[in-house]
Amino acid sequence: MLDKVLIANRGEIALRIMRACKELGIKTVAVHSKVDADLKHVRLADETVCIGPNSPTDSYLNIPAIISAMEVTDSVAVHPGYGFLAENADFAEQVERSGFIFIGPSAKVIRTMGDKVAAIETMRQAGVPTVPGSNGALTDDNERTLQIARDIGYPVIIKAASGGGGRGMRVVQTEAHLINAIAVTRAEAQAAFADGTVYMEKYLQTPRHVEVQVLADGLGNAIHLGDRDCSLQRRHQKVLEEAPAPGISEQVRTEVLQACVQACKDIGYSGAGTFEFLYENDRYYFIEMNTRIQVEHPVTEMITGVDIVKEQLLVASGEPLSFTQDEIIFRGHAFECRINAEDARTFMPSPGKVTTFHPPGGNGVRVDSHLYCGYTVPPNYDSLIAKVITYGKDREAALTRMRSALDELFILGIQTNTDLQRDLVTDAEFQRGCVNIHYLEKKLGLE
Ligand code: ADP
Repeated sequence: MLDKVLIANRGEIALRIMRACKELGIKTVAVHSKVDADLKHVRLADETVCIGPNSPTDSYLNIPAIISAMEVTDSVAVHPGYGFLAENADFAEQVERSGFIFIGPSAKVIRTMGDKVAAIETMRQAGVPTVPGSNGALTDDNERTLQIARDIGYPVIIKAASGGGGRGMRVVQTEAHLINAIAVTRAEAQAAFADGTVYMEKYLQTPRHVEVQVLADGLGNAIHLGDRDCSLQRRHQKVLEEAPAPGISEQVRTEVLQACVQACKDIGYSGAGTFEFLYENDRYYFIEMNTRIQVEHPVTEMITGVDIVKEQLLVASGEPLSFTQDEIIFRGHAFECRINAEDARTFMPSPGKVTTFHPPGGNGVRVDSHLYCGYTVPPNYDSLIAKVITYGKDREAALTRMRSALDELFILGIQTNTDLQRDLVTDAEFQRGCVNIHYLEKKLGLE
């Protein structure tokens, strides 16, 4: 087992990782920026290192500072969490070259999955269903490009190979706009990601976002932990998630789950990962793979009983997975509401001092949060401050429990989106299930 792990992250996920380490008897090192010295996990860690000023570039994205912190603390491995350096292949490579363990897949796999054109091609070859598209980067041959679009059928979407976070995409409705739209997207991608490679996909009009959680140990074993529905999004940011995805036929689901497991074996995957799909008319379309732990992993933990972060740590230490596929039993339903420090009306971040914090509790309720009374939410980072997760024997029971949990939640001193979440879990359409990715923005009058 790993002796000492450095946690290269902050907030709720850093605390989550620390808890898994403690249960496995692993010593922990918390690294933090100046303003983050009072973070809950920093107070609880075995050792702490201040790695720089508040700007993420100077601290949580500062690779030399993090590797130096590993050296001075004799850490053996680094857990990157999500965001920051979690999907940075150069970081994974430098960690390994410095003689440490990166808790995640190999730098090579991260690099392939970070290039969407390469990722889609890899998945297509492994038998994972993808969106009808250009099957590779678009070239300067306009006639060929126009023909591809005609074959796919309009509307189409032009996407940057190196895009991320919902940036670098453009929907094209008619042939007259295609060539110009490609030029503009290419120029934007070149400016934003230093890579002008773009590709084309059919634009799906009313899809749901359904994703598949996998675990692999790099020793030949790979399993899936079922799917999640994360269709409630605002500006491509997930707001509320659930597992399993409702209303999907077992046969279609089983096929895609098996394809994901096979793909993990084909690409030599190791650690935790997520295959993201758009789902429309009973079909799945792969869009990208996330090679890290995700914010919404707890809903999967609730319905499987698997501790995904512990499995990451075990696999990184060279152990096989603790479970075979047959041992994974899916039970009940779970929801997660993301609580953000933000203005309820404008969605602008609302940093400041938390004067009161009463998290909900009780049977089937889990709260992952680094908040405490007197903690000051800094303005420098993501506004996620808590995740409220509920479990129930079925979807209705889990949702009823979420309503009651949100009624118990009190965070004073800063503004939060708790009221929006209360509104969502009583929304008639959402209660019925299967809303698509445009539902929330339409409801908010943003679309
Ligand atoms: P990013 O890495 O920027 O998140 P994705 O490829 O995951 O990019 O796409 C982000 C979002 O854009 C999707 O969740 C979906 O809402 C929309 N999108 C992407 N591709 C398509 C498509 N082919 N049809 C319809 N919507 C799409």
